[in-house]
Amino acid sequence: MARVFVITGPSGVGKGTLIKLLLERIPELELSVSATTRAARPGEEDGVHYHFLDEAEFEKRIAEGAFVEHAGYSGRRYGTLREELERRTAAGHPVVLEIELQGARQVRQVMPDAEQIFIMPPSPESLRTRLVGRGTDDAEQIEKRLQVAEEELAAAGEFGHRVVNDDLDKAIDELEAHVRATLAG
Ligand code: ADP
Ligand code: 5GP
Repeated sequence: MARVFVITGPSGVGKGTLIKLLLERIPELELSVSATTRAARPGEEDGVHYHFLDEAEFEKRIAEGAFVEHAGYSGRRYGTLREELERRTAAGHPVVLEIELQGARQVRQVMPDAEQIFIMPPSPESLRTRLVGRGTDDAEQIEKRLQVAEEELAAAGEFGHRVVNDDLDKAIDELEAHVRATLAG
């Protein structure tokens, strides 16, 4: 069975940035494309960044048992589609799930062998700076995300491995080394 890596961390910590670099450095690794009910940001493509579903379609997929895990986050829904994950692992690819805390906990129950990694900010305040700098969320969204971040940071100890994303070069080197070591396992 191919390995599954769960990567969790508060919004703005740099998960997307790190995962993009990780996929470039370890080409066999694939990212499972999640489903969400949130609107696409400029530049995001359906089927590439997310499968963008409306609420009714998301509900239908839940009823069909199409999700490995799903959760509410900041007023929207997010979930890992079983088909996305299984297609990749069946082809022998190790897979990354970039998901929030509730989803990571569900995966821990159903896939205890998945490697769980938490990305930490250098300080809680840096999250605000990064979210404002990213410029994709309005002030209300940023406040909601920072509130959730407190709860997420408090749960960092649940994860088997933690990486601090202060200096990006150091963080990606550490993440890559950990993923390679796990794959060589
Ligand atoms: P997430 O996917 O966790 O929400 P992103 O990858 O979108 O976070 O990063 C949030 C913002 O922080 C982006 O503008 C990104 O360029 C920036 N960023 C990522 N890593 C670092 C870092 N190590 N130092 C400073 N800024 C960073
Ligand atoms: P964003 O809206 O910034 O893309 O994502 C918001 C949060 O949802 C992030 O913490 C991200 O990791 C999480 N997320 C993305 N896809 C999934 C998923 O499939 N399941 C769960 N549980 N969370 C997800």
